[in-house]
Amino acid sequence: MAGELGKYKLCVSARSADKEILKKSQDGGIVTQLFKFALEEGIIDGAIVAGPGDEPWRPRPFIATTVEELMTARGTKYNISPQVSWIKEATRSYGLDKVGIVGTPCQMQAVRKGQLYPFGLRDVPDKIKLAIGIFCMENFSYQSIKQLVEDHAAMKMEAVKKMEIGKGKFWVYGNRGQVVQLPLKVTHKYEQPRRMEHRLRADQERGRHLGQGDRGRVLRDKTHRAGEART
Ligand SMILES: Cc1cc2nc3c(=O)[nH]c(=O)nc-3n(C[C@H](O)[C@H](O)[C@H](O)COP(=O)(O)OP(=O)(O)OC[C@H]3O[C@@H](n4cnc5c(N)ncnc54)[C@H](O)[C@@H]3O)c2cc1C
Repeated sequence: MAGELGKYKLCVSARSADKEILKKSQDGGIVTQLFKFALEEGIIDGAIVAGPGDEPWRPRPFIATTVEELMTARGTKYNISPQVSWIKEATRSYGLDKVGIVGTPCQMQAVRKGQLYPFGLRDVPDKIKLAIGIFCMENFSYQSIKQLVEDHAAMKMEAVKKMEIGKGKFWVYGNRGQVVQLPLKVTHKYEQPRRMEHRLRADQERGRHLGQGDRGRVLRDKTHRAGEART
């Protein structure tokens, strides 16, 4: 397990004890709880969170500076919320000196890179005081998740109370108490392709349409790219 998680200083399992947070949090409400604590203790003066957007379940990043605002962002929206693009906004337009941010691992990687190599960011990365990375195995475009929910769970997006991935299934909970579980093999074709997989699949497709000599070249390219990905 340690190998799969990578390096860590301390590993704990925790759950918020705040009933208000738990009412609408995705899991144990730890993200909201940590930001709430950080706001109240002055560790941050605002957090970049993924709140409700223009359409149901379409996230929109915004800066929460109060506990009430934090509460509106509880729960997972399974599509991209461009969190990182709001860092400059938080410091410049909102004038925050101590910024919190939550995001998926790829977004956190960008944040950490920005802190290590702050090209064009000036003092912005120094102002990130609490960065919370959440796990992310699958991710959907908005159109894909809408189609998945409407076609397979037979629910309108506005009628959905919660979505969840767990126990090998994609769960959709409706506002009227309906629960639909879909095997992950149904969701796979709706997921955003991972970059490497996408390239390999594209190469396979190309290989099918090429002659023998060309197939060898594709294979060599593929091996080379796999090497690149490991470095
Ligand atoms: C696309 C995606 C895929 C995920 N896949 C997995 C998984 O495979 N396994 C797993 O264990 N956990 C996964 N998670 C994380 C999990 O769903 C919960 O977000 C996490 O456990 C925190 O729960 P919580 O109760 O502490 O959060 P809460 O207290 O409910 O707060 C959730 C926080 O997440 C933020 N958030 C919501 N949607 C997004 C988004 N799209 N992008 C960035 N921030 C967002 C909100 O701003 C909020 O602050 C995924 C999350 C996302 C966004």
